[in-house]
Amino acid sequence: MASEKQYQINEIFYSLQGEGVRAGTAALFLRFSGCNLSCSKESHGFDCDTEFVSGRSLSAREIINALRECSVNCEWIVITGGEPLLQLDEALTSALKEHGYKLAIETNGSIAPSGELLDSLDWITCSPKVAEHAIRLQRCDELKYVRAHGQGIPKPKLKDAPNKLISPAFSGEQLDQKNLEWCIALAKEHPDWRLSVQQHKVWRVR
Ligand code: SF4
Repeated sequence: MASEKQYQINEIFYSLQGEGVRAGTAALFLRFSGCNLSCSKESHGFDCDTEFVSGRSLSAREIINALRECSVNCEWIVITGGEPLLQLDEALTSALKEHGYKLAIETNGSIAPSGELLDSLDWITCSPKVAEHAIRLQRCDELKYVRAHGQGIPKPKLKDAPNKLISPAFSGEQLDQKNLEWCIALAKEHPDWRLSVQQHKVWRVR
């Protein structure tokens, strides 16, 4: 029998979505290991605060078992990373959908998924960390930019995204008041954008 495909998974847990349009809703989190970028204060205005290096090898079947152990009631999975599109494939999204899950993804937008893979996702959040000309993602439901004090309103390539959000850069786990006030001013000046704060850090949930 052929061995099952393995995915490198950093962690699987159950919590509340802390940011974006779906903030406050319960979700299973499937965090893939690995990222194709390394964001830092110097290059992006903030340091990456996600540990995505470590991980364990799991098959689709083992991933579903681990999700079931976290919650048997929750139907939404937030697929995140690192950069989940480095590994996510249709075989895994099909297996998850067969088990009744709805799939949300958080991606940095630098990788173009196949049309089939894109269509298997129920909610796509793009948080770009590369120049607009380097965005490869074809569409998203929610476009979210991290902004530090002094960074202007984005001019996104994915300008037709139905939800456009700006998120103040945190200092570690602390809300940075200066960045927050800057983003509030940006949202007031550009009403087609809305404020999104990483509330899970304020709520102290994962
Ligand atoms: S794209 Fe996201 S996960 Fe990757 S280094 Fe940047 S902030 Fe971290």
